[in-house]
Amino acid sequence: MLGRVFLMDSLPAYDRLYTYQLPVLPAPQTWAAGLRLQIPFGRQNHWREAVVAEILASEPPDQTTAGTAPLTAGAEGPLIKTAGLPLDPYPILNEDQLKLCAQLRIRYACTWGEACRQMIPPGLGGRSTEKKQRVWLWRLQAPDQAAAAMENGEIRYENQARVLEYLLDHAQATSEELFHACQVSLSTLKTLEKKQLLTHTIIKQLPDMPADQAAAATQVSAVPGSWTAGRDTSASACGLQLTEDQQRALEQLRQALDRLPGHPGHNSRTALSEFLLMGITGSGKTEVYLQLAATVLEQGLRVLMLVPEISLTPLMTERFVSRFGSRIAVLHSRLTGSQRLQEWKKIRGGQVAIVVGARSAVFAPLADLGLIILDEEHDSSYQSDHKPRYHARTVARLRARATGALLLLGSATPSFESYERVLSGRSTLLQLQHRPAEAKLPRLEVIDMRKVGKADPAGLFSQPLYQALSACFERGEQAVLFLNRRGFAPLWLCPACGFSVDCPNCSVALTYHQPCQHRPAQLRCHYCGYLQQAPAICPVCGQPMAGWGMGTEQAEVVFQQLFPGQRILRMDQDTTTARGAHKDILEAFRRHEAAALLGTQMIAKGHDFPLVTVAGILSADLLFRENDFRAEERAYQLLTQTAGRAGRGELAGQVFIQAFDVENEVLKAVCGGTYEAFFAMQQAFRRALQYPPYSCMGTALVSHPDEKVARELCQSLEARLRFQWQTWPEARDAQLISLGCSSASLPRLNGRSRWQFTLRCQSERLISQCLNFLARQRLPKDSSLSLSMDPA
Ligand SMILES: [Zn+2]
Ligand SMILES: [Zn+2]
Repeated sequence: MLGRVFLMDSLPAYDRLYTYQLPVLPAPQTWAAGLRLQIPFGRQNHWREAVVAEILASEPPDQTTAGTAPLTAGAEGPLIKTAGLPLDPYPILNEDQLKLCAQLRIRYACTWGEACRQMIPPGLGGRSTEKKQRVWLWRLQAPDQAAAAMENGEIRYENQARVLEYLLDHAQATSEELFHACQVSLSTLKTLEKKQLLTHTIIKQLPDMPADQAAAATQVSAVPGSWTAGRDTSASACGLQLTEDQQRALEQLRQALDRLPGHPGHNSRTALSEFLLMGITGSGKTEVYLQLAATVLEQGLRVLMLVPEISLTPLMTERFVSRFGSRIAVLHSRLTGSQRLQEWKKIRGGQVAIVVGARSAVFAPLADLGLIILDEEHDSSYQSDHKPRYHARTVARLRARATGALLLLGSATPSFESYERVLSGRSTLLQLQHRPAEAKLPRLEVIDMRKVGKADPAGLFSQPLYQALSACFERGEQAVLFLNRRGFAPLWLCPACGFSVDCPNCSVALTYHQPCQHRPAQLRCHYCGYLQQAPAICPVCGQPMAGWGMGTEQAEVVFQQLFPGQRILRMDQDTTTARGAHKDILEAFRRHEAAALLGTQMIAKGHDFPLVTVAGILSADLLFRENDFRAEERAYQLLTQTAGRAGRGELAGQVFIQAFDVENEVLKAVCGGTYEAFFAMQQAFRRALQYPPYSCMGTALVSHPDEKVARELCQSLEARLRFQWQTWPEARDAQLISLGCSSASLPRLNGRSRWQFTLRCQSERLISQCLNFLARQRLPKDSSLSLSMDPA
């Protein structure tokens, strides 16, 4: 039998399907597409890991001729090598996933292996079991020495500081524990070991997977007739009264379900299988999801539910778990390797009906998909920033199309791409315009910070916001405060000569962080993690230096001065590195252990706190200053979402938006206008300048430690590409152009200079073709090329 296989690790130039002779397997195992195996590769016949993409000639039913199937015409004849045995007892990819790999590979210009790795858990099979059973246990060589290293500024990187802090608190920890608690890699631990701050011992551990569970994962169980048998999941059974809007939306969705492929009366028009559920914040989108999921489960199909970030949307997960019980798997980035492997095996083995997860869960190995839901579909965390740089919405659409599932996108502030699809008839709009029961939309007020009195000397809280907060706390209610910048002050500056301290690795200023438990005051780079002590005296003119501008740490301090008796919880990247920290903060706030929750955009995401009646946006101006054609769309979404946190229960809400630029169009749209009006305004601007969704864009970003090398490589790649596309007849029709080479918006990052060029065209396929051409170019040593495609 012959099989076509791809390598798991391959250079782009060698990435293709290779034909191998597959050896006869001992019964009952048979070869199938998706099986992982080892193959002898190259002149030296080194053993390499590979996956079967397709079986060319299937074995004849009669066993006597097994293994002697003749070579098919067109195969590479006598040169065909024989592959090794499979590495797992079952295929790691199903047919749908293999097709998806092929699509991702072309679309995002990645290799087969890179696409495949998105779909399997990192710990799958892997190296020898002997190695797997060993655990590295880390401790500090001398706690005093570690504390001193942090005090005297010897520790120059934030991730190293996190490890030391963690071990000061916990005495010892395994590598895996440190990877997750401190978000570091093994190289960080080894660096600290070289500095003689850490030491490790290797201990033996029993295998983490119970044998029976591993066995269960090897067989895919048949789909039962209905997942909901013996369980009433209707709204009335859950004590809920659906609004008219909700009922109407549900009816339309259920009708569409009946017309999907595989159902009687199926209609193949794509608009029927994609819906945009646009509901103002608090209008009950989740209940629509739950009801529709129940219908899909009744038909014996499965549901994929995506949320922007699991740890930030615990409520959605809880509601699914409480409604559908144990037939749910929850996937997110904070699971340990072995937890993730276990969930993956459960899903693959067909034991779960619903997967709730963040971005990467879009690849979950669910069979018989009936419905894919993307909640808060506008959220930027659906865009991957690692290779392949996919967008979960795009991948969900590909999967829905391939499997005949219904795609439901939900948002209060849809992305422009999704709304444009509605206008062009490729998706159907469903609207929820009312909040259920007594809940009313909050009252919005823009505070002109140029004119109004301030409650504190730093000017963070205006008088109206201060008074509203005082009244709110007096009534025993809660408030949410939003400031999109962490740290104490974004600049450490000499007021006399204007000198500020910049990161030596990146082209950004360092942020001032005030002293805390284990460490003195620090300046940190929010891009590469570099840190150093804050100089008290300006090195240029000798005057004292000070922090300038405001961040969440400062807002917390000022809040404590203004409201000495009230507790405030701060939620930003600095307070949430530890596993479970998000959930702890949100739950403490929901239990009313604090009067206020202060945070960066993390707090804007889909939380529901019935006692919150005041939302304060401390500085809207920060949102308007980004240099990107999506800046206004994002600002609109963030402001509307944050405002939506107030008044979700029976209590009326108030929202205060503090800004200097009160004439800003976005601000006007958030306060008075409708989404449609805002869309129309932005549409005109994007059409005129040919920005997506009215064109398709792709970007190639080159980086190298040397500025000159990066620039020249960027220019040379662009020239090679231009030369290449002259041979493509469709390039002119689709108006393919390059917008020219320039240094990136962050010209230096992590000690590397960055240059880029952007391609624009009317055809997505052509942009992919360009990216694929670039991916196959040879690059000089130490340079790297990152390719991305604007999401559709
Ligand atoms: Zn100075
Ligand atoms: Zn930096």
